[in-house]
Amino acid sequence: METIANKIDISLTTNSRISELEDGLNKFGRIFSDHMFVADFSDGEWSDARIIPYNDLSLSPATSAIHYGQSIFEGMKAYKNEEGETLLFRPKENIKRLNISAERMCMPDIPEDLFYDGLKQLLDIDKDWIPSAKDTSLYIRPFMFSTDSYIGVKPSDKYKFMIFTTPVGGYYTEPVKVKVETHYTRSANGGVGFAKAAGNYAASLYPAKLAQKEGYHQLIWTDAKEHKYIEESGTMNIIFVIGDKLITPSTSDSILDGITRDSVLILARDWGYNVEERKVSVDEVVEAAKSGNLKEAFGTGTAATIAQISLFNHKGFDYELPSIESREFSNQVSLYLQEIKRGKIQDTHGWIVKL
Ligand SMILES: *Cc1c(COP(=O)(O)O)cnc(C)c1O
Repeated sequence: METIANKIDISLTTNSRISELEDGLNKFGRIFSDHMFVADFSDGEWSDARIIPYNDLSLSPATSAIHYGQSIFEGMKAYKNEEGETLLFRPKENIKRLNISAERMCMPDIPEDLFYDGLKQLLDIDKDWIPSAKDTSLYIRPFMFSTDSYIGVKPSDKYKFMIFTTPVGGYYTEPVKVKVETHYTRSANGGVGFAKAAGNYAASLYPAKLAQKEGYHQLIWTDAKEHKYIEESGTMNIIFVIGDKLITPSTSDSILDGITRDSVLILARDWGYNVEERKVSVDEVVEAAKSGNLKEAFGTGTAATIAQISLFNHKGFDYELPSIESREFSNQVSLYLQEIKRGKIQDTHGWIVKL
């Protein structure tokens, strides 16, 4: 596969937009770095790997991804350490998951070194776009979509794999208020909820919009069958501290297996917390909130990292959670993740990849 590495064609911009970097930090994901990586799949193989100036694509109106949704993505971040080196957090997990999503959506596997070589060279070329201020990073969006121009429903023969990046500040600026959704469904057993497939997010917009009208930021999704068990929150996994235990729904085919979630659970176990991955009923969380046993609740994800939940609504009742300052575990893990990702503390888990 080394051959692909040598074949990345590079064409640099003559008109850098780096002066927009500061502006980008205030508008999550709206300003894009100077270059993007592109590779095309056809006749059963990947070819034409290239880095070109970030620009619009030209596509047939019959492009199958637009009609039938063979489209998947990943989300990761690059950070700068004090020496100005570029650090990635557990990038192997992203390529692994991208290929899990690809398989479910009948899309081709992306070779690890195509992904890495493209990513590394792109980050090297656009390294000045990696911000270094507190709470900032360069968000990386690898994605693949089908490109056959054909209106029959079938797996496409052609695909594009691309990576672009966008400098970002914080995602949520305040703790989030969430509503437990007991009517609409994000994903069901046997479906595609475990894949980072574009359509999952489209399906979530309408119920989320209804909750936003009522004053909540996000939903807590429940199982499709009974709406009794908690799944995840918006585009984050969810973790509760009840009494002295960390409790979170086990992953399944209806839950996205988050890398942040996994990292948080590993750290919790390292630190001697009692961690339970199992079914978590809404009733259990409501009972814990009523009795004062619910100490912490937070979402985990690459974009938001640790998003504190200040309140949740269930069947018309709002349940307030303890103050953010009182939340020992999530404050500790949030700080730890911030520091390890920026190379400020020793990486004892082999999570950090230095470019
Ligand atoms: C991406 C995502 C997450 C979080 O995954 P991370 O790997 O931690 O970024 C959780 N839920 C959904 C639905 C997601 O799309």
